[in-house]
Amino acid sequence: MGNTGMGTRCVQAGYAPENGGPRQIPIIQSTTFKYDTSEDMGKLFDLEASGYFYSRLQNPTCDHVAAKLAALEGGAAAMLTGSGQSANFFAIFNICEAGGHIVSSSSIYGGTYNLIKTTLAKMGIDSTFVSPDATDAELDAAFRPNTKLVFGESIANPALTVLDIEKFATAAHRHGVPLIVDNTFPTPVNLRPIEWGADIVTHSTTKYMDGHGVAVGGAIIDAGKFDWMAHADKFPGLTTPDESYHGIVYAEKFGREGAFITKATSQLMRDLGAIQSPQSAFYLNLGLESLHVRMPRHVENGLAVARFLEGHPLVTRVIYPGLESSPYYEIAKKYMPNGGCGVVSFELKGGRQMAERFMKRLKLAAIETHVADARTCCLNPATSTHRQMNDEELIAAGVPAGLVRMSCGLEDKEDLIADLKQALEGCE
Ligand SMILES: *Cc1c(COP(=O)(O)O)cnc(C)c1O
Repeated sequence: MGNTGMGTRCVQAGYAPENGGPRQIPIIQSTTFKYDTSEDMGKLFDLEASGYFYSRLQNPTCDHVAAKLAALEGGAAAMLTGSGQSANFFAIFNICEAGGHIVSSSSIYGGTYNLIKTTLAKMGIDSTFVSPDATDAELDAAFRPNTKLVFGESIANPALTVLDIEKFATAAHRHGVPLIVDNTFPTPVNLRPIEWGADIVTHSTTKYMDGHGVAVGGAIIDAGKFDWMAHADKFPGLTTPDESYHGIVYAEKFGREGAFITKATSQLMRDLGAIQSPQSAFYLNLGLESLHVRMPRHVENGLAVARFLEGHPLVTRVIYPGLESSPYYEIAKKYMPNGGCGVVSFELKGGRQMAERFMKRLKLAAIETHVADARTCCLNPATSTHRQMNDEELIAAGVPAGLVRMSCGLEDKEDLIADLKQALEGCE
């Protein structure tokens, strides 16, 4: 794909049919692959030759779609996973084992927070959370001798904070560790973290990439730039022999460009098995083919809705990094000159009761826990995902009772605004 633009890559990267071959990526719905001799197959098991033998390790449909994602993010290699959760787990666990430590932005998706804070702790991995607005000194203070990586979200779900990727990458590299960025919300159409120094990018492809609410999935893209051998003592999993794989040293055999994804595939996917099905990868690819056309519309609708809400007397606060009033406006402009995403959060004057009445009155925006697909949807955390908290706890968690998160879809913005208007009128 060379120097082609984002649109061309969204449509065509990752798959070039042979003469007379199927134009669309074929769904290879096969668990296994056939060989003429055991010797041929043995070479695959030894990682001496590349090829397919079992779809838990690799499948051609998934590989074509992963190659497209590598092209979109500007990475050296990529893999698909069964969900965004498994993508983040694999990306972290591929470098950080029991006894290790993670520095993470505190403003991240709830599922990822639980993963790092609770589940990884049970596996012997400690963590320190820092504000996404942390200074260099505050970042430096979070590192320990056993720190293995830094983690953050480019635009956080649901807080909509924007990560200063250059600052976090520089801090990570100063301490000899890579930066992992979950880039689910902006997608590579609006932001490519690798261009700003990130080493590994993760996605919940369930969101905008799929874009139609069809299939749960995830992805990991490696920039292929981090020099594991230069910090060999920190990353023994990549720089010393893997006894479960005939003593292969991933960083030696596959170099900077191949080590990370090869290890995550041949070791973690082999042992943990969180694969994306070829059918789901096919749906994901359909979403990717129009990602560059859809994202600008999500941004246009998000900004229009945010501006409308900002001027409404029943709305006390609007959170959207594209608004001039946002504390993240400047940094969002720097990293995402074409806008970030279509998710907007806002607080209603009348708290929980008003939020409930308002959402019941909405006709186009459906009440869902999902975000980032073609149909507009909304959620009041106080009466759903954060139901167990009282009003004080909600404020402390940054989700006051009257907060509504709205994911603007691909409808006409005039219709979305008219819907909001009539719903708010009924709350006066
Ligand atoms: C949804 C989401 C996840 C989790 O992804 P699943 O596909 O639901 O497992 C991780 N990170 C972010 C930013 C998300 O929005």
